[in-house]
Amino acid sequence: MIPVSMTAPSRSAALLLEFCLEHRNQMLAVLKQMVEMESPSDNKTAVDNLGAFLAREFERLGGEVNIFPQKKYGDHLIAEFAGSGDGKPVLLLGHFDTVWPLGTLANMPFRVEGGRAWGPGVLDMKAGIAMMMFALQALSSMGNGKHRPVTVLLDTDEEVGSESGRPVVEKAAADCVAVLVLEPAQGAEGHLKTARKGVGNYVIRVHGRAAHAGVDFEKGHSAVVELARQVLEVAKFTELSRGITVNPGVIRGGTRTNVVAAEAWAEVDIRVARADDARELEHKFAALRPVDPECSLEVSGGLNRPPMERTEGTVRLFDIAREEAKKLGMVLAESATGGGSDGNFTSALGIPTLDGLGAVGEGAHAAHESILVEELPRRTALLARLLESI
Ligand SMILES: [Zn+2]
Repeated sequence: MIPVSMTAPSRSAALLLEFCLEHRNQMLAVLKQMVEMESPSDNKTAVDNLGAFLAREFERLGGEVNIFPQKKYGDHLIAEFAGSGDGKPVLLLGHFDTVWPLGTLANMPFRVEGGRAWGPGVLDMKAGIAMMMFALQALSSMGNGKHRPVTVLLDTDEEVGSESGRPVVEKAAADCVAVLVLEPAQGAEGHLKTARKGVGNYVIRVHGRAAHAGVDFEKGHSAVVELARQVLEVAKFTELSRGITVNPGVIRGGTRTNVVAAEAWAEVDIRVARADDARELEHKFAALRPVDPECSLEVSGGLNRPPMERTEGTVRLFDIAREEAKKLGMVLAESATGGGSDGNFTSALGIPTLDGLGAVGEGAHAAHESILVEELPRRTALLARLLESI
């Protein structure tokens, strides 16, 4: 029962929460359906199969669905919901591809056990999509009738860098007043994400000169040895105190032990907290020179997700979320993360972006991927209240 003394906004929060608590099992049922439709980024047929399901579901909820056909990846999907006024829409952003190959379900079946729901992609981020669906339903059944239009955008190649999703995300976000990203929350405390590092990749390729390691060793110029020097050099670019990390994660080179290596290369992951730091790294990578003048270097790559910096607009969104969370009995905190999401793109366009609004759990991309079932209803209610408050 709702005490009559409650203020209007608190009453609205209570009604939305009641709806979400009552629909907990339906949420889990939809989540099960989604998890059981495996959707690895690189399998278009599988991803499109889930996309067709999602299109039907969002249409059933009253959304106007548009499909963005893709050749290589799954088709992206947008569902638009009318609001009460004619203000700019709020964008609910997510992806429905996962990092899990087809067949993962055999060893990691969807199950609810010990207060958690388990399965591939359950946390990252199929639960977030279920939350979007039920927040919209809560709004239309129990909402105060006042909210902006809502645009739901789900893309299909987020886990592999959003090559095809990025332009769709940027175009949709450009018309929106704010972006709410339903990626998983940070940690067991369920922190929201107000800053994300920018992410990039470089490839350093060394061309040396091959020679027989025994017969004419001195005629060779080892690409492997030269690459080793370059790897040590770029590792020095890391500056933890500024949030800059440079990780030569993969190296390859040479053919046989008795051959002086002609070719070698390294793949390097970079993370930066600020856009300016990416430019600085760009200069440093461009300035790399071979120590052995007979070897040559080829350096390619750069930033592919700009950092999501903690802007004023994002902090304002977080403040609203924290106030609304209080009405639902939750204490919300914010955090920064080294991982990127599509929120990086929208934030870099200057659109206030709040991330980590999805499920609370652990083990994204890992065998123990799971969500806390108890957190689902109230975080869904929070999402619905946010849509009424922005
Ligand atoms: Zn994700």
